[in-house]
Amino acid sequence: MTTARGVFVREHGEHDVLEVREHDVPDPGPGEVQVRVAAAGVNFIDVYRRQGIYPGQPPFVLGDEGAGTVTAVGEGVTAFAVGDRVGWAQANGSESTLVNQPVEPLVTVPDGVDLEIAAAALLQGMTAHYLANSTYAAGPGDVALVHAAAGGVGQLLVQLLVAKGTTVVATAGSSEKLEIARRLGAAHLINYAEVPDLAAAVREAAGRGVDVAYDGVGKATFDASLASLRPRGLMVLFGGASGQVPPFDLQRLNAGGSLFVTRPKLADHLGDRSELEWRAREVFEAIAAGSLTIEVGGRYPFDQAAEAYAALEGRRTTGKLILVPSG
Ligand code: NDP
Repeated sequence: MTTARGVFVREHGEHDVLEVREHDVPDPGPGEVQVRVAAAGVNFIDVYRRQGIYPGQPPFVLGDEGAGTVTAVGEGVTAFAVGDRVGWAQANGSESTLVNQPVEPLVTVPDGVDLEIAAAALLQGMTAHYLANSTYAAGPGDVALVHAAAGGVGQLLVQLLVAKGTTVVATAGSSEKLEIARRLGAAHLINYAEVPDLAAAVREAAGRGVDVAYDGVGKATFDASLASLRPRGLMVLFGGASGQVPPFDLQRLNAGGSLFVTRPKLADHLGDRSELEWRAREVFEAIAAGSLTIEVGGRYPFDQAAEAYAALEGRRTTGKLILVPSG
């Protein structure tokens, strides 16, 4: 048994339910490793868990994503050893100085990738990877709409699409954010806070309806995303940063031109060990090669976790925020 410090959700609610305190961490159980956490990633899924939209019964330590160094291994663990550098995108309790994790979601962080970058890259990187490769196999000649393009997923998705030769129409809520999207290779830039008719602006910029609309903003942009598609285009609703999309009349897909709509999530795209390793490897290789840039837009100590989430939810961030055990 060891003592650790963690960011707890005391009860479901807003930022004031977060509390940093000490807690006991037992020795790792069978099939688990104990990890000294170098950094944890700040994600919208943490917000949904804190609010009670996603599973998690308080009190619990927040955080699905992190990276660190293995300090002990439980019975039966052969894939990892003490001293190994590991990261994960889908495990609980990451915002703690020490955490026991099952081996299934763990991947090895290669030497060329810093642990803080790994904690910033895995969840959003593998999300952008499945969105650009599996949900829709984007390629040259395609036009893709990417909302919140200066955000965590947005920046990575723009880069992966541009690398495939896809033309990107990027949206964001300020000219500073659009400048980031432009630097990453987006061909067309739209400030959706300023245009009166977003779908018309997208069609005008692209010269036609887009082949695929990647929408993690949700409630505020869903209608415009749908209206931006070409006939038989694909609507990919992958999140609800502005709120969840209300129930939807399927007849609208007919009226829009035999449209497709999907609501994917990362867990369904890490189906087995080989898929997890494939996505993580491609993300890490691209980072190490310099072809995928991870912007750490903020690095907060655990004690300031509430400020980090307030910034994310308040649209005051670009790139990825991480939490570190101390300043
Ligand atoms: P971001 O860094 O993209 O932050 C969210 C951005 O959304 C804001 O910066 C803001 O950009 C935009 N936004 C527009 N309206 C609002 C609003 N009312 N409140 C807050 N933000 C708003 O976050 P992430 O990259 O972490 O996540 C983006 C989306 O992807 C989320 O919906 C998340 O749930 C989803 N996601 C889905 C996954 C999946 O597998 N399905 C996995 C990972 C994330 P701007 O100011 O430019 O409008």
